[in-house]
Amino acid sequence: MSESCSCSCGGNCKPLLYACSGAANTGYLADAVARSLMKNGTGSMTCLAAVGAGLSGFTETAKNAKNIVIDGCPTACGKKIFEAQNLDFTHLVLTDFDVQKGKTEITPELIEKTAIKVENKI
Ligand code: SF4
Repeated sequence: MSESCSCSCGGNCKPLLYACSGAANTGYLADAVARSLMKNGTGSMTCLAAVGAGLSGFTETAKNAKNIVIDGCPTACGKKIFEAQNLDFTHLVLTDFDVQKGKTEITPELIEKTAIKVENKI
């Protein structure tokens, strides 16, 4: 994993955010957190599924970016996609932030609180 991008931005470009966006409450939270971080300007959300599909436009972009993969749970689907594509990334799992898969209700307050926690790790 790398902490910074390898492009010519001098460390100033925004990270790319990839959420697992799974069906579970935690997958929903991953998606909502990524959208919140995009809205507040922390990063730019892009499509994890497109990376998983090996679409060259997405994988080439990811090669030169600071990639943040947000998985909802330890099954870590996003992590596995990035490893399969041999791409560098920083990995965050939302069950590490006081969220229980299948149990925790996803509220606007929780989305905001979790987005702050994730932002502090980026
Ligand atoms: S990481 Fe967990 S929540 Fe996200 S898609 Fe995979 S199984 Fe679902």
